Amino acid sequence: MLLLTPGPTAVPEKIRVAMSEPTIHHRTPEFSEIFRQTREKLSKIFGYDEVLLLSSSGTGAMEACVTNLCHKKALTINSGKFGERFGKIVKAFSLELVELKYEWDTPSNIKDVEDAIKINPDIDAVFIQVCESAGGLRHPVEEIAKRVKELNPDIVVVADGITAVGVERVDTTHIDALISGSQKAFMLPPGLSMVGLSEFAIQKIEKKSFGYYFNLATELKKQKDNTTAWTAATTLIIGLNKMLDMIFEIGLDEFYKTTKKRGDASLKAIEEIGLKIYPKTPACAMIAVSFEDADKLRKILKQKYQVNIAGGQEHLKGKLFRINNMGLIEPYETSWALNAIELVLDELGIREYNGTANRVFNELYFKELV
Ligand SMILES: *Cc1c(COP(=O)(O)O)cnc(C)c1O
Repeated sequence: MLLLTPGPTAVPEKIRVAMSEPTIHHRTPEFSEIFRQTREKLSKIFGYDEVLLLSSSGTGAMEACVTNLCHKKALTINSGKFGERFGKIVKAFSLELVELKYEWDTPSNIKDVEDAIKINPDIDAVFIQVCESAGGLRHPVEEIAKRVKELNPDIVVVADGITAVGVERVDTTHIDALISGSQKAFMLPPGLSMVGLSEFAIQKIEKKSFGYYFNLATELKKQKDNTTAWTAATTLIIGLNKMLDMIFEIGLDEFYKTTKKRGDASLKAIEEIGLKIYPKTPACAMIAVSFEDADKLRKILKQKYQVNIAGGQEHLKGKLFRINNMGLIEPYETSWALNAIELVLDELGIREYNGTANRVFNELYFKELV
């Protein structure tokens, strides 16, 4: 079965093998060395000197950023389930909330954020997704972050890059915290989250720490010393270290280039077989497609063609399907998935099969864009 859901993603064999070794103790020089190497490699991907590793799914890192970096009023951008989640976390900790809400296919924009900050000068943190996975949408995060800092450099900008870090280069010049998780572009099992921090974020955390398990001041102190505050997720970190080696063997630029090429070729193939891309600004991480009979398509895809893709959530349930484009995916895997989708369209009586999806994908991937 081909696992092509935009998280969890398939775990490559080399990583599974690396994680099959006997468990090592987390307070040993051996593990400290692996931990140090892992953080060093991560810092190249995140674009920060400090990247903290937390034992939680991605939401844990989202919560840690809310509690450690917002003390008064948060501005959250909600273009889907994950943006909505930031708002729910803010409320759960009784912080004040201003939420900008959009349709799930619509990105936020500089003007709306600017207006919200001008009306609410006490906003001290902005929370946004780089890619909102609910609809596969890319927010103009870099531009928004830049404007926020121009308006008030004391506002912390937190970007959830769980489906962006390791997919594309995120310019962190104006971003203070960038979040990621193990089960998306990092191709690991779920259970590990990561937060890259700017100098400004570090200062803010060190000035006023919050909480116990997700106390980032405690973690900063420990992790700079190549250990963790609590028992580290040793096996996942060993897997991550291996995975980062695999990416750097390919070369980070080459890895991003291939990911983009595969994503662009997929978008075009989907359009050429008459389907509609859902988001107005598609992210590189996944191909999100509007489709009235999405659940039926997914069911046939899985049973007959051995391809597992994701559907939509809430009001998009049954109306959307999403194909993963994160991680080390072979072109023949994507090509087969697109071909299988075209075959299902034929089976559903929507469009006669003639191999267009496969042809368009391969022409773009192997001939034009190289
Ligand atoms: C997957 C995902 C998360 C994290 O969800 P968890 O289930 O807690 O790992 C957060 N944000 C985005 C954009 C995601 O895609």
